[in-house]
Amino acid sequence: KSGFVTIIGRPNVGKSTLMNQLIGEKIAIISDKPQTTRNKIQCVYTGEDFQIVFLDTPGIHKPKHKLGEYMVKVAKETLREVDIVLFVVDEGNQIGPGDRFIMEQLEGIQTPVILVMNKIDKMKQEEFNKLYEAYKSTGIFHDIIGISALEGANLNSLISKIEALL
Ligand code: GDP
Ligand code: MG
Repeated sequence: KSGFVTIIGRPNVGKSTLMNQLIGEKIAIISDKPQTTRNKIQCVYTGEDFQIVFLDTPGIHKPKHKLGEYMVKVAKETLREVDIVLFVVDEGNQIGPGDRFIMEQLEGIQTPVILVMNKIDKMKQEEFNKLYEAYKSTGIFHDIIGISALEGANLNSLISKIEALL
């Protein structure tokens, strides 16, 4: 079993930290070879009988100009070329405008999206629950999981959720 996964989210939510933690655990190859014309293989996680290929796709930012609009279009197309999208968000009392913009782009995309609530080490249980419910009520996520990329908490569950979709 294997599949292509991409990690998206606003700057500073912990995408690189998550990738590095996974690399620290079980990464077989780190490659710069393009998988398609636009997606680069960032790393490959090798499990017992499965492989998860993480792809580096262009980030989604709210466009400020025509070129920006084109870049969002390209980013959206690349989301259709992967098997699973991990959408990483971090702490907060509510869903912010940057995350809402990304969520709007995810609507209508058939690729399953796992919402990864990162930095749970900084969140109070109450705050986590509130945010969790807010994301859940949007109805656009295949699954929602809380992790701490920094502390390595719940990463095994994340891998299991991805594996289950391969
Ligand atoms: P990226 O821009 O999405 O790639 O975010 P980075 O991985 O560069 O992380 C941005 C900042 O958030 C860094 O200072 C990280 O140390 C911090 N960070 C990432 N993950 C966690 C986490 O799980 N908990 C905490 N407390 N900080 C984190
Ligand atoms: Mg980064």
